Order: sequence, then C-alpha cells, then structure tokens
Amino acid sequence: MLDEYIHEPRIAYFSMEIALRNEIPTYSGGLGILAGDTLRSASDLELPMVAVTLVSRHGYFRQEIDATGRQIEQPDTWEPAQWATPLAAKVALNIGDHPVWVGGWMYVLEGHMNGHQPVILLDTDLDENRPEDRTITDVLYGGDDSNRLRQEMVLGIGGIRLLQAAGFVIREYHMNEGHSALLALELLRRYAYPPEGVRPGESPYNLPRVRELCCFTTHTPVEAGHDRFDYSLVHSLMRTTVDEATLKQLAGENNLNMTQLALNLSEYVNGVAKQHAEVSRSMFPGYRVHAITNGVHPYTWTSERFRELFDRQIPGWCHEPEFLIRADCCLDDQDVWDAHQHAKRLLIDKVATRTSVQMDTAIPILGFARRMTAYKRPDLLFTDLERLREINRHQPFQIVLAGKAHPQDEGGKRLIETLHWHIGELADTIPVAFLPDYDMETARTMVAGVDVWLNTPLRPLEASGTSGMKAAFNGVPNLSILDGWWIEGCIEGITGWSIGNSSSPNSDADADSLYEKLQHEVLSLYHTDRTGWIRIMKGTIAKNAAFFNSHRMMRRYATEAYIR
Ligand SMILES: *Cc1c(COP(=O)(O)O)cnc(C)c1O
Repeated sequence: MLDEYIHEPRIAYFSMEIALRNEIPTYSGGLGILAGDTLRSASDLELPMVAVTLVSRHGYFRQEIDATGRQIEQPDTWEPAQWATPLAAKVALNIGDHPVWVGGWMYVLEGHMNGHQPVILLDTDLDENRPEDRTITDVLYGGDDSNRLRQEMVLGIGGIRLLQAAGFVIREYHMNEGHSALLALELLRRYAYPPEGVRPGESPYNLPRVRELCCFTTHTPVEAGHDRFDYSLVHSLMRTTVDEATLKQLAGENNLNMTQLALNLSEYVNGVAKQHAEVSRSMFPGYRVHAITNGVHPYTWTSERFRELFDRQIPGWCHEPEFLIRADCCLDDQDVWDAHQHAKRLLIDKVATRTSVQMDTAIPILGFARRMTAYKRPDLLFTDLERLREINRHQPFQIVLAGKAHPQDEGGKRLIETLHWHIGELADTIPVAFLPDYDMETARTMVAGVDVWLNTPLRPLEASGTSGMKAAFNGVPNLSILDGWWIEGCIEGITGWSIGNSSSPNSDADADSLYEKLQHEVLSLYHTDRTGWIRIMKGTIAKNAAFFNSHRMMRRYATEAYIR
C-alpha cells in the first residue's frame, strides 16, 4: 500500500489539524478545513504530496448547549482502524528524560476525480509508551502548555522521522501554521556540518539548505494565535536538539516563538490574503511575506443541485473552476432559484429537527457560523434588538447561527450564552436558531441554505475567512465587514455588500452600518426584486467562486512556493 507513494519525491504538508471528512473529527475550524481543501485540490490536480497530522483520537470536542446557553464539551472519539491502515514503521524521540514512540496510520484521501493523497496520522497510544505519553495525541489542542509542546514535538520531530522511516522521499516541507516548526529544527540537525569542518564563528548548520527545503504559511494576525513556549519548559522537554545559541537566534531570546522559528527557516513565507500579508509584514519586519489568498474546494462545498446545474451548463467547472466566470450569462434564473430553494428546504428541515424553531422558505435567512471568539463579534448583529424588530416588522427575516468556542476561551463561551439570551428575547418576533456542534456537514448545509452569509470581524483580525467563499459556490451573497478575503471579493451590489468603512474600527458604527445595509439594500432587494436578487446570486458564482477556490490556490503554491 505504501509502495504506491514512496518513490516519487513529494511535498510534505504538516498541519496540526486536517478536516479529512465529517466522520473524522481531527479539526477545530478554519485552519483544518483549509488543510483538507488543500489536499482535496492536490488530489484533483495530482500534485505529489503527503500530509502529516495528529490522530486526535478524541477529536476536538463535541459541542452540547445546556438550558442556560452554556457550551458543554464532550469527547468526540473516533476509531482510526475504521478509516486508516496502521503503518509498520515506528520512531522514537526524547521528551524529557525518556524516549516516546510515535507510530502512524495512513489515511488515503480520495478525490472525486481518481486522484488520492496519503495522510499520516501520528499516534503515541502505543504499548511501548508510559501511560502519560500514550495520551499526548488524544485531544486536538487539549491540555496545558506542556502538553501542547509535546504535541508539537510529536508533529514536527516525530512526523519528519516517521516519513523517513516509512521510506518517503521529500522534496519540500510545507508548514501550515507555526505548530509544526520543530520539523525545521530536526532538519538543521540532519544538515549539520561535521564538527571538524566548522570554522570558529561559523554556524555548525547548513542553514541555506534547510531554508531551501521549507516553506511556511502564517494564518493569523491575532497575537494569541502564535505559539510561544518558556525556555524553562523547552529545556525540560526538549534536551537534545540544536545548541542553545542557535535556538535563541532562530526562535527568540526570551521564549521559543514558533512563528519566528518558521520564518527564519523558510525560504518562502506567505499570508492567506493580500491584506493579511501586509499586516504580517508589519508584524514581522525584515521578512518577505508573499500573499496567496485562500480558496475552498469546489466539489466539496457546492450543494448537490448546484453541482448538477453546473455539470449541465458549465461542464469542466470542477477541474477548472475558472469556467464559473460564465455563470452570469450561462445559467437560467429559474434554475438558480430552484437549486437554492432546494438547499434552503434542507437547512430548514435540519433546523426543525435539531432545534424547535420553525422557518419559512419564503422569508430570507441570514447565516452566521464560525469559531465563537471575541474578534469575530458574533453578537454585533444583536447590538440593538429594538432596531432589529423594527426592520423585521416591514421586511421579515430569519437567522441561523452556529459555532464552537475553544474550551479555554471563556470570552467565546460567554458569547454563545449571550447569543442564546438574544434568541430568547427575539423568540416571539424573529425566528433565530443556534445549531449545536458546528462541523463540516452543518457548514455545508448552512452555506448553501441561507440567503445571505454574514461576517462581522474586528478589522484587521480576520486573516482570510473561508466560509464566505463556500457560500459563493452556492450563489449565496456575503454581507461582511471589509476584512480578510472580502476586501478582494466584494464588488458592492454585484457579489454582495460591505459593512462599515475601512478606517477606524468601531463596533457602534459597524452595527449602524450593518442595520442600514440590511434594511435598505439587502432585505429591500430580496423582498421586491427577484430578478435583481438572482443577478447578485449569479454574480457571487461568476466573480467569487470562479476565483476563491483551492484549485487556484494550489496552482499558486505549486508554482511559487514549491517550485522556486
Ligand atoms: C469553513 C469552516 C470554518 C471557517 O470559517 P471562517 O469563515 O473562515 O471563520 C470553521 N468551521 C467549519 C466547520 C467550517 O466548515
């Protein structure tokens, strides 16, 4: 089984999380979904890759909501043997004062066009290991700093050793976010000069060679999103890596900064949208940060009826989504409307079975779903409930919400409670539903079934955002703050609408702008001009789906990051 993959030199794609399929809960949100779409497009384009991630046997978590609107986290356990094949190879790395063995499972990600990609899921739950080491790879982003560093050691160091032990030939390493940056340290060790060849004052490591082998994608301008570890912790767990002077020079004087380490050891570095690259350049002065704007996988995120419609009218769209640029003239209005209404009914059914809220297909639905955390401002829409009721009196609408908060993000959890409080307040006037346990399947149903996709982040903290791109594949326009990808994707009144202006970030002004747009542009168009509305639906497909897809993204990674 391995034999098929180990002969051709491959790009090794390292990511702490990858959304392989809905049944495998090894992802927490946007980063994992992007990693999955990366591999799905790599499959379709037949790029030679191999992905490395953690097995996360208990997943991230399954979300339940209690009667007071509090998030409750349950384990989301899956069985690797049901989906993947155990690898014969095992490797050891020292963590603290003893070796920890790392084994792996091979999952084969199958595209829908015959391509496939091997994915290695690293696992420390082996008989050889002490009980406390067997749980290192159990929970995605679980535990404290110490466990996080252990996980990142397993991912970076264990991952690179296991690839070698299994016989893979690697031509380039791609670090998807800084979590895997320790792989570059392992490469430094691999490319150390023999001691007798090092002249005094010169580095004992072949840095240029390592940099040539690495590329790095940074994903967030939020400071807390960049892992840093105390050197006291680093010394207690990671004793035998490179020498201390080199480590501090590459990863920071005061603590081990994984982003800085990745930046210093990668020849090619990129942000995930044009603005994000710009923000990253000012966060990390002195580094050349390119921009490759994210995209989503065409087939995965397009609803069944739209797939059928595109297959009929725009054949080849799945392999060359650029063809979707014809959507505005090649698709029939009624066909577009019917495909959407079908997806909308499926969403309304899901809402009815999973909550007690009944919705109406004739009334527009606003959708908001993403990680629940302060900068995403999921409560912005609910700033003034009286104004919402007033708008609804003349131009009725409905709302569907979803999203998980990281178990340690108390602010995010309070936002979920606040949303539930608002739902209660509005219950007699506006149907609002919160779908628990946001996952790939819920996302697929929501981005296709709502009429407007809402995003209200605090500028400039949304690096890219991808759910709005998924909506575009289903003819659903965005109403969003001009941040992340939407700066590139918004053509006012053609692909959707912007909220606020791009100068000073101010929540009251943004809320005011949101209500104005909603009332005077979005809902008024929906309720009075079906043809005008469908023109915008087609505009989102033609101008946004045609561009913001992961095929275009992977062609750029291939020609700019992987082949240099
Ligand atoms: C697409 C997706 C996300 C990311 O959404 P953003 O708009 O980028 O925040 C998160 N979770 C799930 C389940 C998704 O499908």
